[in-house]
Amino acid sequence: MWRFVEIFLLQLAGATLLVFLAIQLNIKWDFLSIALLGAFSGLLIWLCINLNRSVHFLNWIRTGDISRAPKLNGVWGEVTDRTRRLLREQVKSLNASNKRLDDFLAAIQASPNGVVLLDVNGQIEWCNLTAASHFGLNPTADISQHIGNLVRDPVFASYFATGNFLHEVTISGKSSAAGRASRLAVQIHPYGQGKKLLLSNDVTGREALEFMRRDFVANVSHEIRTPLTVLSGFVESLQTLDLDEAERSKYLELMGQQTLRMQSLVSDLLTLSKLEGSPSPLSDTWIGAEALAYSCELEAKALKSDLEAKHGQNEIALNSKEQLTFEIQSNLELAGSQSELLSAMCNLVNNAVRYTPAGGEIRVSLKATDGGGAIFSVNDTGSGIAAEHLPRLTERFYRVDASRSRESGGTGLGLAIVKHVVQRHGGELQVSSILGKGSNFCFILPSSRVRIK
Ligand code: ADP
Repeated sequence: MWRFVEIFLLQLAGATLLVFLAIQLNIKWDFLSIALLGAFSGLLIWLCINLNRSVHFLNWIRTGDISRAPKLNGVWGEVTDRTRRLLREQVKSLNASNKRLDDFLAAIQASPNGVVLLDVNGQIEWCNLTAASHFGLNPTADISQHIGNLVRDPVFASYFATGNFLHEVTISGKSSAAGRASRLAVQIHPYGQGKKLLLSNDVTGREALEFMRRDFVANVSHEIRTPLTVLSGFVESLQTLDLDEAERSKYLELMGQQTLRMQSLVSDLLTLSKLEGSPSPLSDTWIGAEALAYSCELEAKALKSDLEAKHGQNEIALNSKEQLTFEIQSNLELAGSQSELLSAMCNLVNNAVRYTPAGGEIRVSLKATDGGGAIFSVNDTGSGIAAEHLPRLTERFYRVDASRSRESGGTGLGLAIVKHVVQRHGGELQVSSILGKGSNFCFILPSSRVRIK
């Protein structure tokens, strides 16, 4: 409405002004023509003013800066206002979309899986940091590079070329945290118009676990098959051969040994599976160090005498101090599972007995440490272990000398059990050894599991 009033007023002002001037200057023209001329001039002036306003508007639109909108009247004032409002809403919705996009990208960045977006030509449009580390990509410099030029694993190359993406493939990735080549499960998911989403998942741990599982089953089968073969051989001999009494009892003794071997193996396997499948022992049961050490000493001496009897070394005094000595802090108490702690301590002491030849020395001690914890230590002057074997000693069925281990009744699971027990009690197992000189096996329990009576 106002814009019409504005035109009308300008025309009226123009007409009035020209009529007034004609009267003043005594111009003898037709007043209607003069008034029309004045109204036309008013219209021209209105057009000029609006032309000027439109120039201001255009200049502002060119800058695109909403905050610097010109203050205009009339039609252009309204146009400016509406444009500013529209722009403001657009900026607001653009900011909201940008925020959503940022949130979305941040969520993909946080994903443990690698994500690569490929365009129709297989060129990288975007990738998250996980994918960058999986494939060794540079998330900025490698944009627009063809994925085939950067992921050169032949399995991936043929997977990409066939275009059959219904299943995933496993390929070698770049170095993992452990510094070893990682294994990646990758799958492509087509989306949009010919675009592709490449997902990668680090399966190094999963593959290692699967390998360990298969290895473990193979080892257990092997360990059980050996005594079973021996047993069935003896059974066959007993059934088919005409043996005298002495031979029969010798065979039965050997069969008994094989049965014991299988029993120890099954018992150690059950212990391990119990340790793995149950929660860590609570710290509310306190066990006296002396009682633990005493049971351990009895078992070690029994084993020692067994072995000596077996190898005809009865002449060695079993209780002589130089051979097997226990030094226990009598007022010490440990919190946890009595059977587990006893099993860990006995395993270490028994190993020392088994791997220390006659005449050697074994020193066992259990004391409080300066930090309030406790250390159980077994020193022997036995065969010792070469440095390259030390990191693998606690692996199941890992033996330095397999025949010696079996000969002395070992299952190859003892140190694996010790490690589990110590870890479940919050402690740490440490091993040091010099080949031919002897070994030291010790575990340290934290102060939360140790008290002085
Ligand atoms: P095993 O039943 O064979 O003794 P362990 O797990 O107890 O199984 O020990 C693993 C291997 O570590 C043994 O086979 C042996 O070679 C070595 N070992 C353990 N304790 C000692 C020790 N005190 N002295 C020398 N070698 C040892």
